[in-house]
Amino acid sequence: MSTRKRSILLRDLKNYLTFLKDYGYSEIPSELGSTLKIQSGTNKKSNYSIGIDKRLNMETKQKLTKKSNISIEEVREELGDCTRCNLHKDRKTIVFGSGNPNADLVFVGEGPGADEDEQGFPFVGRAGKKLTEIIEKGMNLNREKDTYICNIVKCRPPNNRDPKPDEITACKPFLIKQLQAIQPKAIVALGKPAASTLLGRTVPIMKERGNWYEYEGIPLMLTLHPAYLLRAYTIENRRNVMNDMNKVLKKLKQ
Ligand code: SF4
Repeated sequence: MSTRKRSILLRDLKNYLTFLKDYGYSEIPSELGSTLKIQSGTNKKSNYSIGIDKRLNMETKQKLTKKSNISIEEVREELGDCTRCNLHKDRKTIVFGSGNPNADLVFVGEGPGADEDEQGFPFVGRAGKKLTEIIEKGMNLNREKDTYICNIVKCRPPNNRDPKPDEITACKPFLIKQLQAIQPKAIVALGKPAASTLLGRTVPIMKERGNWYEYEGIPLMLTLHPAYLLRAYTIENRRNVMNDMNKVLKKLKQ
């Protein structure tokens, strides 16, 4: 392995451990059956161990081989230290995606914000915590084991503006490859830019959320972005998002 690849790998690993720690994980079961501590002290947010154990890794590999001949790691490798659009100029980190690459459910957001750019993982700021709450409390799923989360662009747009069409065009092939590698049972587009990118047209999200569409034969649900939900934290919006997620849960059980 080249020095550059090794340093990217080490940086990604460090960011991943920080990300897990932020979400309250305290240990990782190792292949030898002992545990690797992420932090000492009490775990206030969560009392479950993460699913990166040997058994899960083996199951994941087997399913991936069956489902697709491209892996998420190969997509990441192809993306490399990307400079395909102008967003690379101000980014600190490429925010590729996180979660289980064999998940039945993929959430697609718009683009990384400041926290994500800093840590290298999607949805780790306030909106990310809201999304985690929706997944774990609302849907009773495990964010890391049951879902994969990514964005339509992998680098932070300056001042959190919407990604521009040329940036989306440059980055979209990697989103498509991620979805090809994962082949989930359902996709959830979070907010207008993600919905519009996946459907290839301007989507009036307030009007069309809650409806099923298809992306490359995969059921696609449109819902509100958690950042919007935080800004407009009304009973109606919260109820709408939970109704959308209940439809997703029903679809996953079919
Ligand atoms: S946003 Fe996507 S295409 Fe643009 S530089 Fe980042 S990774 Fe490359």
